[in-house]
Amino acid sequence: MHLPWCVKKCPYCDFNSHPLHGDLPAEPYIAALLRDLDEQSPLVRGRQVESIFFGGGTPSLFSGALIGNLLERFASRLDLAPDVEVTMEANPGTVERDSFRAYRDAGVNRISLGVQSFDDEALRRLGRIHDGKSVTQALASLAHAGLDNFNIDLMFGLPGQSPEEALDDVKRAIAAGPAHVSHYQLTLEPNTAFHRDPPELPDDEVCWVMQAACAEALTDAGFGQYEISAWARPGRRCAHNLNYWRYGDFLAVGAGAHGKLSDVQSGVVTRWSAPRQPRSFMGRERVFERRVLTSDDLVFEFFLNRLRLREGFSSEDFTGRTGLDWTVVSERIDVAVSKGLLACSGEQFSTTELGWRFVNDIQAMFLP
Ligand code: SF4
Repeated sequence: MHLPWCVKKCPYCDFNSHPLHGDLPAEPYIAALLRDLDEQSPLVRGRQVESIFFGGGTPSLFSGALIGNLLERFASRLDLAPDVEVTMEANPGTVERDSFRAYRDAGVNRISLGVQSFDDEALRRLGRIHDGKSVTQALASLAHAGLDNFNIDLMFGLPGQSPEEALDDVKRAIAAGPAHVSHYQLTLEPNTAFHRDPPELPDDEVCWVMQAACAEALTDAGFGQYEISAWARPGRRCAHNLNYWRYGDFLAVGAGAHGKLSDVQSGVVTRWSAPRQPRSFMGRERVFERRVLTSDDLVFEFFLNRLRLREGFSSEDFTGRTGLDWTVVSERIDVAVSKGLLACSGEQFSTTELGWRFVNDIQAMFLP
């Protein structure tokens, strides 16, 4: 569920986010979201929805009342699992003391907080609108709401950052008591201000030192790494993201949102995406892009996603998600095993410690 506006565009951001000029067009946007939902909900009749993710953009620009209203409409159109995970992304600097209480009362049971760093100077260099004080306030608001299932998003490899500073961010995040930490290295993506005018970043060796030190701190604090950038306390992995990485199905509601559905009977897997510009998305003549995945797409996409996970995969997972026979990939799997990149235990394959450092290379073996 994509809510695409932000107070300001961050210079490193390549998400479909748009700076908000003037008032939030909440009413027409919600009307367009509900149109999406009405069109898509029949596609999942007979299936239970296990998670809802309000992503962005900055969903916390929407009030608790609006989010509650949307969740009620969802519940009337979809079969929600009794323990449905409802995550909302929020940014410090856009939340008040009672904001999270209002989101909790609306039905949100998991928050993902875009902290990125606790350090004022690092945040300024990243072009964020918030500072360390707003992070502290947002964390206090979360505690006030009693929302203990929350994620802290952190970035490392920031302009001018030292390994000690990166580690300090992780230690401060751990001290805040999150259930989950997402720890991403800053990358310079095309079509961003940082790509056009790159800041000086720590080199690869320094980033490796940071990553190793931060991983040790997270492990010592009781977090388990279950995906390249995702760390969770026991039982607190993000159900929504796990579904993507396990190559599951999902609906797409909102500007630029992408969906994927498998038709078990026909074996056809379809992807679609909505117009990226909120104005086009809210218009009457909006055009969605749709595409049926080929066998080559299915093979690559399955491994692109599954290889991100520590838990690995089995031949049964592959056939269940793609409808393809294991022999389509078995030779390539054997090569990865013989190179020491994958390990095989019975029917289960997982990435070795060596392979974990070369995930891109293993993924590339499954390109057509
Ligand atoms: S707040 Fe997040 S989504 Fe918005 S511009 Fe910054 S990085 Fe992008």
